[in-house]
Amino acid sequence: MPQSLITVAYLAAGVLFIFSLAGLSHQKTARRGNMLGILGMALALVATTLGPGVSGYGPLLAAVAVGGAIGAVLAVRVEMTAMPQLVAILHSFVGLAAVLVGFASTLNPPPLAGTEATIHAIETVIGVFVGAITFTGSIVAFGKLQGLVRSKPLLLPGRHLLNLAAIIACVVPGVFFTQAHTPATAIVPLLAVAVVASLLGIHLVMAIGGADMPVVVSMLNSYSGWAASSAGFMLENDLLIITGALVGSSGAILSYIMCTAMNRSIVSVIFGGFGASEGAPAASGGAKPEGEVTSISVTESAALMRDAKSIVIVPGYGMAVAQAQYPLYELTKLLRDHGVTVRFAIHPVAGRLPGHMNVLLAEAKVPYDIVLEMDEINHDLPTTDLTVVIGANDIVNPSALEDPSSPIFGMPILEVWKANTCIVLKRGMASGYAGVENPLFYKPNTRMLFGDAKKTVDALLDELRQQLNVNVA
Ligand code: NDP
Repeated sequence: MPQSLITVAYLAAGVLFIFSLAGLSHQKTARRGNMLGILGMALALVATTLGPGVSGYGPLLAAVAVGGAIGAVLAVRVEMTAMPQLVAILHSFVGLAAVLVGFASTLNPPPLAGTEATIHAIETVIGVFVGAITFTGSIVAFGKLQGLVRSKPLLLPGRHLLNLAAIIACVVPGVFFTQAHTPATAIVPLLAVAVVASLLGIHLVMAIGGADMPVVVSMLNSYSGWAASSAGFMLENDLLIITGALVGSSGAILSYIMCTAMNRSIVSVIFGGFGASEGAPAASGGAKPEGEVTSISVTESAALMRDAKSIVIVPGYGMAVAQAQYPLYELTKLLRDHGVTVRFAIHPVAGRLPGHMNVLLAEAKVPYDIVLEMDEINHDLPTTDLTVVIGANDIVNPSALEDPSSPIFGMPILEVWKANTCIVLKRGMASGYAGVENPLFYKPNTRMLFGDAKKTVDALLDELRQQLNVNVA
């Protein structure tokens, strides 16, 4: 394929990626956005494969077939609840790819001299540095999300100094690398950068506590974009540069939005446990809640729902685990047919990945216009008759507002206890992802409806049908 055609194909793919991102920013256009992204990637793959410098189609096709098959099986099999882990491990591949490209282009350098060679060397060091941090950081994030690594932050004494020392320990061999003239002299400093940056990646993510993990996953998404972009510079591939920059910047914007939603400063999330006292795991704070836990039966809960004029449902991770969204929508329809105003309130970090709840509710065909974001609905909660919390915990924890000693203090939350009554559906008294006690369960107007969320919603549906004399065909 002539170079001019490849350039046009790359440009078209870049434009498709931009439209894809725009589409993905709204639920209604997300499907179209996804299709445009797939089209752009297919175009990019074909143009790259047919481009100059590509030979040996046999191994290439074999790699695409094996990689594609693994990807397809994973995509079909993965549970929605395990999506963040999958995303994290995929980021690690991008990081590793950037590191490998850096080593390959050092062992087999392009024919460059003078300033061009120096610029290429700088690109290589940056690519390997960012790639190695992304690689190991994403593996630790995967471990934390999968429960293989403890989610409490590892706060080593003098950790910020350690980070600074690691950065300096990368800059020094990096400078040597840019001045090396042969692959043999360049490889050792590059190896040093890769090893130190890998350790830095582990340390940065180990220092981050459970509740900040969503932002970390999104930050690593951004890093993986910058790693891909650096690989693009090393390979002189314009499309990789553009795509990497799109991923890098959109990931950075998402991280910023999530930080604002959690009232965290982005710097404190990147460097982990900022402001927490040295050596004290952040997730252990928080006062012991006062008051009594009052449980409620399915029959009483259904009666409260039947008699309410307005209900706000707050879904969380437990709804995803139980797959309760389908009967929940049946329940919603029944209540709406009975004249009750039912709306859903979505916290930005509910569940285990951004947009987790929106995806599940859309899957169950809940109409978008009754699904509201936290900021749109919080001020309506004091005039709401009943709030129903389904498998959510951290995102409705009042200590985020009331207890300065709590590790989640400052995070905006859904103020469900301000409604007349609040029913919480969960299996027991276990804490949420952040590992902190929740005083909501002890408030005088809170009622605990214990059990698996799906079984409980099924039972509520049956009971409500009986109370409303609704026959199901
Ligand atoms: P939480 O993890 O705080 O709480 C979920 C609750 O669901 C648990 O307390 C559990 O209690 C209950 N539960 C679990 N299984 C079931 C079940 N089958 N039936 C009924 N209840 C069940 O979830 P939230 O959604 O409230 O908060 C999300 C948390 O995850 C935040 O801390 C957030 O920072 C973090 N996070 C978010 C990510 C994101 O991008 N959104 C990514 C990674 C982490 P019990 O065992 O007693 O039933």
